[in-house]
Amino acid sequence: MIPRDTIQKILDATHIEEVISDFVSLHKRGANYWGCCPFHNEKTPSFSVSPSKGIFKCFGCGKAGNAVHFLMEHEHFSYPDALRYLANKYNIEIKEKELTPEEQKALTERDTLFHVSEFAQKDFADLLYNNEDGRNIGLAYFYERQLSDDVIKKFGLGYCLDEWEAFTKHALNSGYSEDAIVKSGLTIRKDDNGTTKLYDRFRGRVMFPIFNASGRVIGFSGRVLTSEKTQAKYVNSPDSEIYNKSLALYGIFQAKSAITRQDLCYLVEGNIDVISMHQAGLENTVASCGTSLTKEQIRLIKRYTSNVTLMYDGDAPGIKAAIRAIDLLLTEGMKVRVVLFPDDDDPDSYAKKHGSEAIQNFVKDNATDFVRFKTGILLKDAGNDPLRLSEVAAEMVNTIALVGDMMERSEFIRECASIMKVSEKDLTQGVAKAILRNKEKDFKESQRVAQESTTPEQQETQPSTDDGTAPSATDIITSTTEKHQFLPSFFPCEEQEKKIISLLINNGDQTITMPSKDEDGNEIFEEYYVEALVVGDILGDNIKFDNPLYQRIFNEFAEQLQQGNLLSSQYFVNHQEEIVRTLAASMLSQPYTISDEWYKKYLISVPMPDDKAVIANDYHDSMLNLKMKKLEQKITEAKEQLKDATDPEDIAIRLGQINQYEKIKLAIGKELNRVIS
Ligand SMILES: [Zn+2]
Repeated sequence: MIPRDTIQKILDATHIEEVISDFVSLHKRGANYWGCCPFHNEKTPSFSVSPSKGIFKCFGCGKAGNAVHFLMEHEHFSYPDALRYLANKYNIEIKEKELTPEEQKALTERDTLFHVSEFAQKDFADLLYNNEDGRNIGLAYFYERQLSDDVIKKFGLGYCLDEWEAFTKHALNSGYSEDAIVKSGLTIRKDDNGTTKLYDRFRGRVMFPIFNASGRVIGFSGRVLTSEKTQAKYVNSPDSEIYNKSLALYGIFQAKSAITRQDLCYLVEGNIDVISMHQAGLENTVASCGTSLTKEQIRLIKRYTSNVTLMYDGDAPGIKAAIRAIDLLLTEGMKVRVVLFPDDDDPDSYAKKHGSEAIQNFVKDNATDFVRFKTGILLKDAGNDPLRLSEVAAEMVNTIALVGDMMERSEFIRECASIMKVSEKDLTQGVAKAILRNKEKDFKESQRVAQESTTPEQQETQPSTDDGTAPSATDIITSTTEKHQFLPSFFPCEEQEKKIISLLINNGDQTITMPSKDEDGNEIFEEYYVEALVVGDILGDNIKFDNPLYQRIFNEFAEQLQQGNLLSSQYFVNHQEEIVRTLAASMLSQPYTISDEWYKKYLISVPMPDDKAVIANDYHDSMLNLKMKKLEQKITEAKEQLKDATDPEDIAIRLGQINQYEKIKLAIGKELNRVIS
């Protein structure tokens, strides 16, 4: 749907280091940027970003690709969504092509729901400022909550008119189907004595759109403005194909880069709390909306940081929710701190009363670790009752046992023992027992899950495809490359084939000088494109690649060359097939770069890889090595066939063939030696 030339414009404008540094903290070293890989756990950076090549590559887990690929992996964007994200970042307008009726039909239900939700968000936001009721009721409410226009726009807030079917009619008139608006939850369909009636779910409410991490509207939370007790204060969209309340975090899209930058996430209870924290400069704040915290929401946070500070209300339900959240966060391997606001205050009211700077300082000064927080709360309740005190100890033991890191665990035990004035040894033993209990429980659970999910047919050891046939080489390639391994050892010529493909992708569109003869037979030197030389050699000798992925890439070179097109490394880094992009990126990156300082200090002269002589040598070597390897393969095959041959004539032919091969092999060997020496 995005025109080709726009895609090119987006890719040209994109600076990969700018895109990635919104999610990963990067440091410049030499020509590249380095940081800790967001795709696997690591403490020392092995994740590199090359601005000149436009690619990233992790030397720890092997993930690699261009900016689009990064967004698809990290943000779970589709290809067009990644492009839209970049277009938005670089202010490039996308004039999407009008959909033909067939394309319209092909839109999945998900797409339709995304479109309806986006339409609704824009409609509500427009009414907030441009409709009399919107201004007098909706906007007045937000102003009364002291929200600025900036933050109202940042969160896309809006107003739904207090009429039965204003939104529904507008949506239907704008071409959205009744089915779509009902499925999105924005419209309710009711049977009324045989006639169906449609009416707006959120009528008369201020609207908080809920965005997913990639910035698409997936649902709404609407707050009622009348004080009528018959209506729920907040109404949320029902779960749909695109919205699942236990997976969504309010504010994650607006907060995620601040969370990554500060390596910390503030978790609050309500939508308004999130918005006022952002307004107060604490932009790394999110809330679990319409539900108590779930493990799926924690996993979403964990994509950006493993440090969470809870900022719950100081009232009884707030404390109860915080205590529950602590155990859940620890179970998911997060580090937890807690800020408790004074009685009657929540993050929003505190910020309003005392201002931005005060709340920033308050949070900094009052974040305590979970042990101090929880013992404080529980001990206050227990008083001096010895029975209650031992219950508190047991409760603390269970929570500390959830901490995965042994060193941290003993630190917390020490702290807890000192606060509660109990023996450290007793606590340690208690924690050890609790860990054992948890392990047993996990083991039983995993056995149960395994039993449920394994049926007798699935217990085969051989890999097989869905229809029960043996997997093809392409299947295996695809599945191994999903793990980002490009060295399947079952291709005998893998190494040699890979070198050729790597040469094509890296230097295919460059020229090298090769000796040639003119009409009179004099030796002259001519410039040739590497692509032309390689394609000529491979087709001339009728060489086939064993690795089907390499064969496909080679075919693309050959086909384009026939039409007079040269393919550049950028073409492959931006290739439409993910597997090709990943392969290209991994072939383009250099694992080690010498830092500028090092270079100056020792004045090391490193051969430039795009030096023509180096490329010419590379071409010469790789091509001969591939031919040599293919020849060895043929010799082995011929010898195998010779074993089975009985007919004397047949034997003679095969022997002659082997002889011929051996001669060529000798010649290539000589040639290779000459180059090496
Ligand atoms: Zn990695």
